[in-house]
Amino acid sequence: MSTRTVELGQPVVLGSGLAGLTVARHLGEPCVVVAPAALGEGTASSWAQGGIAAAVSPGDTPAEHATDTTRAGSGAGDPRVISRMTSAAPALVAELVAAGVPFDRDATGALSLGREGGHGRHRVCHVGGDRTGAAIISTIAPQVGSDSGVTVVRGRGVEVLRDDEGVSGLLVATAAGRLRLLTDRVVLATGGAAALYRDTTNPLASWGSGMMLAARAGARLADLEMVQFHPTSLALPGAEGAPLTLLTEALRGAGAHLLSDGRRFVDEVAPRDVVAAAVHGERMLGRHVVLDCRPVPDLLEHFEGLAERTAALGIDPRLEPLPTRPAAHSVMGGVLTDARGRTDVPGLWAAGEVACTGLHGANRLASNSLLEAGVTGAAVAADLGSWTPASASRWTEGRVDPVPAERTTRLTPTHDEGGAPTPSPAVASPVVRAAMSDLVGVVRDADGLTAAIARLAQTPGEDAVLAGLVARAALTRRDSLGAHRRSDASIPAVA
Ligand SMILES: Cc1cc2nc3c(=O)[nH]c(=O)nc-3n(C[C@H](O)[C@H](O)[C@H](O)COP(=O)(O)OP(=O)(O)OC[C@H]3O[C@@H](n4cnc5c(N)ncnc54)[C@H](O)[C@@H]3O)c2cc1C
Repeated sequence: MSTRTVELGQPVVLGSGLAGLTVARHLGEPCVVVAPAALGEGTASSWAQGGIAAAVSPGDTPAEHATDTTRAGSGAGDPRVISRMTSAAPALVAELVAAGVPFDRDATGALSLGREGGHGRHRVCHVGGDRTGAAIISTIAPQVGSDSGVTVVRGRGVEVLRDDEGVSGLLVATAAGRLRLLTDRVVLATGGAAALYRDTTNPLASWGSGMMLAARAGARLADLEMVQFHPTSLALPGAEGAPLTLLTEALRGAGAHLLSDGRRFVDEVAPRDVVAAAVHGERMLGRHVVLDCRPVPDLLEHFEGLAERTAALGIDPRLEPLPTRPAAHSVMGGVLTDARGRTDVPGLWAAGEVACTGLHGANRLASNSLLEAGVTGAAVAADLGSWTPASASRWTEGRVDPVPAERTTRLTPTHDEGGAPTPSPAVASPVVRAAMSDLVGVVRDADGLTAAIARLAQTPGEDAVLAGLVARAALTRRDSLGAHRRSDASIPAVA
C-alpha cells in the first residue's frame, strides 16, 4: 500500500475520548485529531457510567477527596498530583456544565451526587444515573467537530516518527492507505489497555496501542502491573470475544447487595480491588455470585443505562439478581508523564488513561478516571501551546516524575528480539487475551506469570509485546499492593 506524506506543522492528537477532545477544545491553535471512528465513538469515555468525582457538595473538600484517592491507591500515588487533580475537579465539572452537559440535579437544583466504593462521601456527578460518559461525549464531540480549526482524520496511529531532536511525525493507517503526517508535536490520548484481557469491560480498541507507540519512540512506561479489575460485570454468555457489560459501582452505592450462594460476603462499597478479590475468591470456590439490585429504590428510573441493557437481554433486575464476575476495567500504569503531560520524548505528550500520571497509585478510585482525562487534557493543551521545537533541548527542564525510577520500564531488545515495531493490530489477539485473563488476572503467582511470559514471547504483534511487559512487571513486583495481588507474596519470586 502507498504512503502519502503531508507536511502539517500543526499538532496531532491521537484519540477522541474525553482526553483527546479536551486537548482539542483547549488548544488555541488548529490541530488534527486522528481517530478510528467518528469523534467520540467507541471510546471508553462514552461508555463511562457512574460519573465524575468532584468535591462539590457543601462540607466536602478536595483534601477529603485526595485522602480517599490516596487510600484507594494504597499510598502509591503522588501526593502533589493527587492534590492538584482533586483541587481541579470542581472547576472541570463547572466547565462541563457550562458546555451543556445535563448533570442530574435534586429537587433544589443542586447537583445530585452518587456514592461509590472508596469515597467517604456522596461525591460523584452523573447524568441519567449511569449514562454520564455518553452525555459528556455527545455534548462535547459535536462542539469539537464543528470547530473549523480541527481537522479529523479517520485512522489509527501505528508509529511515532522521530529524529535526534524528538518527534518528527506520525504514521497513520487509514482505509485509503498509509499517511505520514509530518509534525513535531503529537499527543497520545489513546486510552487504556484493559482490552489486553479476554474478560474486559473496555472497547476492544483499548489494548494499549498508544503505550507501544510511546515505548517504541523511546519513552518510559510505568506501573504496568497495576491493572484494575471491576468486581461486577454481567456474567452472561455474550458474543465471542465481546466486552462484558459493566454493572456500575453506583448500584452498590445505592444499596445493591453482592450475594454468594445467597449470602452477603463483602462490604459492597469497599475499594474495587477488595471487592474484586472477594468476588474472585467466591467464584474460585465454585460459588454463584450475583448482584442483587432489588433493594435499590426506583431502580430503572435511576439507572437508565441498566434499564436499557437488561431489557435488551430480556432480564428484569427488579425481579432477579444478576450473575456477576470481575473483568479487567482500567490500568493505573501507562506512559510516564509529568504534570504537563510530557513523556520522555521531546514533542510527545500523553493525556488520559494512556498516561501514568501518579494520580492512582496502585488502584483507581471510582470516577477519578474521567477527572484525570479532563484535567490532563487541559494541562497538555496549555503546555503544548507554549512549547516550540526550538526549546526541545529544555524538554526535561522542571520535570518531576510522579513515580520512582524503579517503577518504570523501557523497551529493550530483551522484550522483543528485533527491537523494531511488529504489526499493531486494531484489537488484541485471542491468544494474548486468554493468556492475560488466565495467568495475569485478579490473583497472580510466579508460575502463572512465568508461563504467560513464555506464551506471549511466542506470539507476534505489539499487543503481545505490551502484554509481556505487563506480565514481567507483575513478576518483578513480588509483594501484593493495591490491585496487584500475588497469592505467593511470601514465597521468594523467580529472578
Ligand atoms: C464500561 C466503562 C465504564 C466506566 N465508567 C467510568 C465512570 O463512571 N467514571 C470514570 O471516571 N471512569 C469510568 N471509566 C473509565 C473511563 O471511561 C476512562 O478511563 C476514560 O474515559 C479514558 O479516557 P481517554 O480519553 O483517555 O480514553 P478513551 O475514552 O478510551 O479514548 C481513547 C480513544 O483512542 C482511540 N485509539 C486507541 N488507539 C488508537 C490509535 N493507535 N490510533 C488512534 N486512535 C486510537 C480509541 O479507539 C478511543 O477512541 C469507565 C470505563 C468503562 C470501559
